Amino acid sequence: SDIQNRLTNSQSGEVRVGNGYDVHRFETGDHLMLCGVKIPFNKGLSGHSDADVALHAITDAILGTAGAGDIGEYFPPEDPKWENSPSEVFLVEAHNIAKNNSLMLVNIDLTIVFEEPKITPFKKAMIEYLSKVLQIDKKRINIKAKTSEGLGFVGRKEGIAAFAIVNAQKY
Ligand code: MG
Repeated sequence: SDIQNRLTNSQSGEVRVGNGYDVHRFETGDHLMLCGVKIPFNKGLSGHSDADVALHAITDAILGTAGAGDIGEYFPPEDPKWENSPSEVFLVEAHNIAKNNSLMLVNIDLTIVFEEPKITPFKKAMIEYLSKVLQIDKKRINIKAKTSEGLGFVGRKEGIAAFAIVNAQKY
């Protein structure tokens, strides 16, 4: 149909939105990776890669803008190739897929939900990292840190959740 064709052959200027969600569990360790920044802490996050829960949510949100599935389809957790892999690999691949679909990232809004650690001192570095890797202006990146008011798995300090929304535009 006409509408189907318009969706498939989307036009310049078309706006896309993608959302991403991820959770990683705390384990023994001495640091976390959040948005590519190493944050010293008395626990780590478990995961096959570097467990950067924030980058995984953003990666899925970028894939969402391109209608390109999810991170697990490209980087299966059972594949030993990705063990201890920096999550930047996933992020860059998702960005390449977006670019191959003529999508330019417009803005990123990230919410990280956790009781600890405090990330305020690292927020600037996190934004700088995303700006550099994704070639988008720092003013177009927003990072929010929320607690879970002591409720649920986040409240029990069992892990960290991250939610991302990415807006992209066809060029
Ligand atoms: Mg993950």
